Amino acid sequence: MAKNYILRQRTQERIDERVERLLNRLGNPEPPLKLEHVRDALDLDRAYFQKDDPSLMDDVISMLHVAGKQVLRRPTLFVDAVKKFDLRAFYLPDERRILIDHSLHKLKYRWIEAHEIGHSLLPWHEGAMLGDDKQTLRPNCHDQMEADANFAAARLLFL
Ligand SMILES: [Zn+2]
Repeated sequence: MAKNYILRQRTQERIDERVERLLNRLGNPEPPLKLEHVRDALDLDRAYFQKDDPSLMDDVISMLHVAGKQVLRRPTLFVDAVKKFDLRAFYLPDERRILIDHSLHKLKYRWIEAHEIGHSLLPWHEGAMLGDDKQTLRPNCHDQMEADANFAAARLLFL
């Protein structure tokens, strides 16, 4: 099992419980876990964004958190925020939607998607629109919320 030294034992157990419950609901599948089944079970939607996609220009965001900190206090265009903070992925709790930068290498999608699913699974992450940059998506990121999401992602992917 993936060990994450900065998560307290109790936090690891709480995440484990959530992941176990989810896997039970999915009938304890064999690896590799199909993330589309996870999304179905959690009623999550996944989409890709492109930094210069004009169709995203009228999406306005505020209350965006990166590494647990609120980074935007006023509404800001989605594309502006992506560029300013060099964001690679988002979890939008109100829409239950995961957004991933389409320009990333495809091999990275699975980890990033699992990480965002991790945010969605943990009730103490609720209420924050979460953005991820290169830093927070690292498996050894030390920020508390990001470490939680990475721990959940590792539990999902490595069962
Ligand atoms: Zn994150």
